[in-house]
Amino acid sequence: MDEYKHVVNSYIDIFWVERCREADLKKELLDRVQHPYFTQRLKQQAAREALSMVNAAIEQAKAASKEAEREIVPVKPTHYGNRMALSTAICSLTEAKQSKTFDRWLSLRSIGDKIKIDIPIKLHRQFHKWNERGRLMGSFVIFRNYVQVTFEIQTGEKKPITNCVGIDTGINALASLSTGEQIGLELKTLINIVRRRKKGSKGKTRAIKTLKDYIALNAKRIVMSDISLIVVERLKGITHGTKLKGRLSKNMSSVIGSWNVRYWLTRLEMLCEENRVSFRRVWPENTSITCRQCGYVDKKNRNGEIFLCQSCGHHDNADLNASRNILNRFFTGPYGAGYEAGPILLNTIG
Ligand SMILES: [Zn+2]
Repeated sequence: MDEYKHVVNSYIDIFWVERCREADLKKELLDRVQHPYFTQRLKQQAAREALSMVNAAIEQAKAASKEAEREIVPVKPTHYGNRMALSTAICSLTEAKQSKTFDRWLSLRSIGDKIKIDIPIKLHRQFHKWNERGRLMGSFVIFRNYVQVTFEIQTGEKKPITNCVGIDTGINALASLSTGEQIGLELKTLINIVRRRKKGSKGKTRAIKTLKDYIALNAKRIVMSDISLIVVERLKGITHGTKLKGRLSKNMSSVIGSWNVRYWLTRLEMLCEENRVSFRRVWPENTSITCRQCGYVDKKNRNGEIFLCQSCGHHDNADLNASRNILNRFFTGPYGAGYEAGPILLNTIG
């Protein structure tokens, strides 16, 4: 982890001077940090973590500036080597049959050709409970004293009883929930009505009102008493009159309109507050084109409403796939909102 820390900090040095995006993390850039045995894959994970930290620091300063109404200069982040978020591309969990003192090996591959690290793991009793009910997700967050894992739980035909929900905002469904539920399927129709009405007409005013009511109504449909955490995408730089950038497609920003998305998220956040539900945002990069099964990132994974992983063949509704990535990113994504909200994990996930 000390080695990892150095590599992350080297990338932070680069990103702090030249602002990069996740899409820029290719060989050329990765090669600018040399390490005697870290593989490209591991360096990529380190770079990703560095990028998240830099982005979080900048965003934090922005928010602080807004609140203080004066410019607050962002502080360059430092990785202290106390956490490491890894995917199954790098590590795997296997049974440790011959041991009586621990239950699993967490084997780190791809550290380098000559180095193989096996971490002995003693399973927490909650692990068995969730392992029986759900499926272990392919990501591990390694801390100095423990490893955090994530489970996906299928709730069957009953109304989904789940504590944590990731929500993807879209046009085909206003909200796609990581529980598999989609709501607000009439959104597109209502928006089209607004667009067809003449500017300044009574019909337009009425259509906008109907749309607003519809959005508010659907927000109410989501916040149920059994939810304790809602995770949405962080929408960058949205102020009055600006169009949404980032993950939201051209289609979405022009069709839904930044105003509607903002209104929707504000309603949702307010309802969360009223119902004492935690509301968190994560960075949206690649959530729509990442396979939630194997983690493979490719634009070709997504074709309109259909998600088909080019690596493992995972087939899904594109928005539902995204919503699961959003939730997953909260738990595993380095330095997203989840980083500040550790206690929530303990309370809800066990
Ligand atoms: Zn896949």
